[in-house]
Amino acid sequence: MFEEFEKAKKIIDKSNSIYMVAHINPDGDAIGSTCALYFALKQIGKDAHVVCPSYSEVFEFLPGIKDAISVIDKDSYDLLICLDASDNGRLAISSEDYNKAKHVIMLDHHQRSHPYGDVQYINDELSSASEITYNFIKYLNIPFDENSASLLYTGMLTDTGSFNYSNTSSATHRAIAELLDVGINATYICKKLNDTIKEAKLKLIAKTIDNMEVYYDGKLRYSYVDYDTIKNLGIHDEDAEGMTNYLRMVEGTEVAVYVRGKSDGTLKVSMRSGGNVDISKIAISFGGGGHPRAAGYTMTQDIGVEKKKLIDVVGVMLSELSRD
Ligand code: AMP
Ligand code: MN
Ligand code: MN
Repeated sequence: MFEEFEKAKKIIDKSNSIYMVAHINPDGDAIGSTCALYFALKQIGKDAHVVCPSYSEVFEFLPGIKDAISVIDKDSYDLLICLDASDNGRLAISSEDYNKAKHVIMLDHHQRSHPYGDVQYINDELSSASEITYNFIKYLNIPFDENSASLLYTGMLTDTGSFNYSNTSSATHRAIAELLDVGINATYICKKLNDTIKEAKLKLIAKTIDNMEVYYDGKLRYSYVDYDTIKNLGIHDEDAEGMTNYLRMVEGTEVAVYVRGKSDGTLKVSMRSGGNVDISKIAISFGGGGHPRAAGYTMTQDIGVEKKKLIDVVGVMLSELSRD
């Protein structure tokens, strides 16, 4: 860890204009890690910015996100720091803006990442990019303030499913304890992220459950909500996320799949596993990626054909389980 952190520190020391970016369709960890590092680097006098062209309204209350920019209005800049993005094709930045960077630092926690940049720090044992950023900010010797601490808390909270998932370690809890000591309002963050939804979202949950299809004796639960339904509910693309968990929660479910239509005409497949099936393998075979228990990909072809292929592949993986 320290070797890569030291290399990254040296580049930061000689950089002034620094941009933080994460993956497209940012989650709490993507926003938490980029915005936290933004506050830390501003504290040491850097000309820091976050690039984040679109995000869900649920994250609007987070500090720093409203200052985020969509494009880089400069011919060149010193440094791009990429967080929570396992390959540079999924960064929320155009390749043109990516190429304007003199240096690129990658900080990521995904398994089977595709390394890129001058510094490549990947640690899949940590819960989140926010936990990496927490370590990195400490390494840089920059104190946490209420903003950076709230953001890092958010990233760890969301990527661990509120400390439910197995990626939560004692180190995660120690980091959280230190962030709480900064004086953040964790109750408010939890209320906003875990205990508040719009009525339209409640209706989307109802739709998702209504459309649920059950295969293989309840081991696979699948639901598709088309774009027109989402649009008619007044929900934007980024806010139509998060439905897979409701399917996964049902007793006996090994694999949950939620497919939603997007405004650009593609279909986003969001998968969750109970832990026995490594769904990142499935997502990769369909051109996507992710973790063993949370993975996804984009369907561009006919949903009828693609859905059958997916159900068959899950069926094969489930039959391999029962053979063990
Ligand atoms: P989601 O269901 O959107 O929360 O995605 C779960 C995880 O799957 C993400 O954290 C990503 O690592 C991965 N993922 C989702 N969509 C894609 C994609 N199109 N390509 C690569 N990885 C993806
Ligand atoms: Mn993420
Ligand atoms: Mn993450």
